[in-house]
Amino acid sequence: MSKVYTIIAEPDNATINKAVELLKAGESVALPTETVYGLAGNALEPSAIAKIFAVKNRPQDNPLIVHVSDVEMARGLGLEVHSQAEKLAEMFWPGPLTMVLKKVNDTIPPQISCGLDTVAVRVPADETFLKIIKKGSQNNSQLPLAAPSANASGSPSPTAAAHVYSDLNGKIPLIIDGGECKIGIESTVIAFDNTKIRILRPGAVTPEMLSEFAETLIDDAVYEKVAGTAQSPGVKHRHYSPKATVTAVIADSEQAFLDYSLNHAHGRNFAVASPDAQTLFAKFRQLDELGANQIFIRLPEPAGLGLALYNRIVRAAEFNVIDLRIIDLHGN
Ligand code: AMP
Ligand code: MG
Repeated sequence: MSKVYTIIAEPDNATINKAVELLKAGESVALPTETVYGLAGNALEPSAIAKIFAVKNRPQDNPLIVHVSDVEMARGLGLEVHSQAEKLAEMFWPGPLTMVLKKVNDTIPPQISCGLDTVAVRVPADETFLKIIKKGSQNNSQLPLAAPSANASGSPSPTAAAHVYSDLNGKIPLIIDGGECKIGIESTVIAFDNTKIRILRPGAVTPEMLSEFAETLIDDAVYEKVAGTAQSPGVKHRHYSPKATVTAVIADSEQAFLDYSLNHAHGRNFAVASPDAQTLFAKFRQLDELGANQIFIRLPEPAGLGLALYNRIVRAAEFNVIDLRIIDLHGN
């Protein structure tokens, strides 16, 4: 890939127009969202989609989320927004809920979802992001944006423009700086199982919130490593990882967690972290910069937003989970 000069700019009108122009020309541009920074590209243009995969070095079998401005735009792109999806959209869009919907035609090219007959779609809540979709979708043209997290594949998702710059400097022409992401963790991804909702990736729209609408199941892959083909293709890849080895610890008390961490630290450069959802990824990056080679994290209760945090931590730990309660039970 040829090297480009990367500019970081505030989201003023001139920058927004520049972003639309670059996106229409098939370039990738990093944009703020309320979840994490996204690496946006024209979702209708196969070469722009290919560029996103190349810039991130993303595995070819991990489909992209398409960002639209509203339900009507999703329908216009040939997605089946059934009545249940429409109800959820009314409640949660714009916001961190991604719905996997059936394609009724190939307006959205197959490269977006790696040949699946579905597409994952959401309306982001960030004003700049929405302005760009809307400006790009005037005069009979459409600019839905594919936008995976704007990190190099495998590293923690970026929650600030500086994180994007550190991963993608020289690879993309523009990063729009919208400050720190409010949520800091990727969107909730759901699929529909007849009338049931199935959570493929937990996020800020929690199982508890979704249960108000329909019976809500949590996919096994949210908690543990799954063999074979996962429902959500992305879940099988190594994810969200700092350079250090992460040990996820389930403990009844902070003291038990600290005792375990101190007893199992191999060298001097280890860290004990108790992050919240908004700071988890920033903390991983910070600990990498400090040269930590071992990180111990206490797992939260897997409920509410804690489920999303739990899911990201066990993945960063590559499912290396120590349950002190079980160890105690067996007397060792
Ligand atoms: P990212 O773009 O890194 O936020 O990841 C997008 C997530 O959405 C991945 O975990 C994908 O597996 C999931 N996803 C995207 N499209 C689909 C789809 N058509 N069916 C199921 N999961 C999907
Ligand atoms: Mg990602």
